[in-house]
Amino acid sequence: MSISKGLKLADLDLNYLGRHLWNKIDTSGTNGECWEWQGTRWFGGDKYGRIEIRTKEGVPVRTSPHRIVYLLTHGGEIPPKMCICHTCDNPLCCRPDHLWLGTYGDNLHDCIDKGRFIPYMKRGEEHGIAKLTWEEVKAIRRRYSDGETQDALADAFGSSQANVRRIIQNEQWVVENPDWIVRENHWWPGRRGEDNNFTRLTQKQVDEIRERYKRGERQKELAKAFGVNHGTISLIIRNETWVVENPVVTSRGQEHIRGDDNPTAKLTFRKARKIRELSKDGWTYKELKEEFGVETGTISRVLRNQRWIDKDYKPRPPIPRSERWKMRVRYREENGVKNGISGT
Ligand SMILES: [Zn+2]
Repeated sequence: MSISKGLKLADLDLNYLGRHLWNKIDTSGTNGECWEWQGTRWFGGDKYGRIEIRTKEGVPVRTSPHRIVYLLTHGGEIPPKMCICHTCDNPLCCRPDHLWLGTYGDNLHDCIDKGRFIPYMKRGEEHGIAKLTWEEVKAIRRRYSDGETQDALADAFGSSQANVRRIIQNEQWVVENPDWIVRENHWWPGRRGEDNNFTRLTQKQVDEIRERYKRGERQKELAKAFGVNHGTISLIIRNETWVVENPVVTSRGQEHIRGDDNPTAKLTFRKARKIRELSKDGWTYKELKEEFGVETGTISRVLRNQRWIDKDYKPRPPIPRSERWKMRVRYREENGVKNGISGT
């Protein structure tokens, strides 16, 4: 939270801040009522609002909105090791005249005076983590598997997201046979919204994803069909999550790597098929090379079924050396190449 470093208004990029601050503060209270922050909060220990701003150099600074409000309304500086206290005892309040500059000691004493301070050790175990019961742990696991987010659960159980994650991943309150569903792709904090919509996959769906991928569906299509992000599909296919001993498929091998998903490839499957057809019709390497804008080697590998592998395609058997020689001579005659070959 960079509290100990202090903050100077002059260092901050106010353009970046824009409307981020005031449009998330409910300033409707007119009779000395609190102006509460409506945006994101820090999860974990305190219940302050959370806001990200930028310095003029573009360095992100995460802090709390009431501190920014204080900077904007009370002289532009919070010295190092000072904090912004609330006369109203409401950590979300951003009303300028409810804020005052104090030391940590002031803040602490103020809290204790107002009966708000609850020592961590009283609340939790050794690590300042809220003490949970087995019942609560079970409830967290069940509710997580029903689709609640880790942040929401941390809030509901007065714990931290990190702690909830450890419970969900069976790192704490360990049980031998976890029967809840570990949505292991989704443990990281901060990734929200569409990208991380917490869709819960079942083993059945995972099997189906692998099966359909094997049959040729694209990862992107599968991600859409199952409402998860592309990375999730990729992890499943590579057997990095929902690990099984004998995966149906871990990738489509060469065909896949060299195929449509490879942005550097100039060919597509359809083009490769066309090359094979045209070759059968008598097109030469040179003609194919020019038509498709690729190297002769690529044409050669396509025709030998070493790239863009097509199981139904039977490559032409290798041409015997003697035959190759005759072809070369014929080619040179037809194209008027004179040098290098004696006797013609
Ligand atoms: Zn207030």
